[in-house]
Amino acid sequence: MSKTRAKFLACMEFSLKRCEAQSFLNRIPATHAWQILRSWSHSWITSWRMHEVPRSVCIFGCVGESDSESHYLCCPFIWVNISHVTGCRPGYSVFERLALNQSSGDLLNLCVVCHAYHVIRSNSLVAVRSNLAAGRSGDNFSLWRRAAVGAFARYREVP
Ligand SMILES: [Zn+2]
Repeated sequence: MSKTRAKFLACMEFSLKRCEAQSFLNRIPATHAWQILRSWSHSWITSWRMHEVPRSVCIFGCVGESDSESHYLCCPFIWVNISHVTGCRPGYSVFERLALNQSSGDLLNLCVVCHAYHVIRSNSLVAVRSNLAAGRSGDNFSLWRRAAVGAFARYREVP
């Protein structure tokens, strides 16, 4: 196969996937689509992404992990506990956790996780940092869990 033909096929495949994603996003409520787009575009407002100085660490106290979306998509504190909030077993891979498989359970989990993070980031950042400095990351988990329960009430009507 020529390089030109391979490029053409790659572009066609990308366009088809984009159309599938667009179709998926059109089928779900705008509130859900916003959280999905924010996650797919790697746009969580984290310390890492905002280039804060100093950059924060995982708000749950994971040793050596940054306050970044890429970590939170793997953070054990979130993914071990999300099913206690939503009732949906989380996927094991980042692909599933980003709801790229378009499963309604993964979609719900991602919306709740993303929303809860941003609620405590915007409403409780001082408390979060104070808890981290004092070695009370468990208190941050309590804040997150409360925010996640609130977010679940908002997103549970998954189509
Ligand atoms: Zn973590």
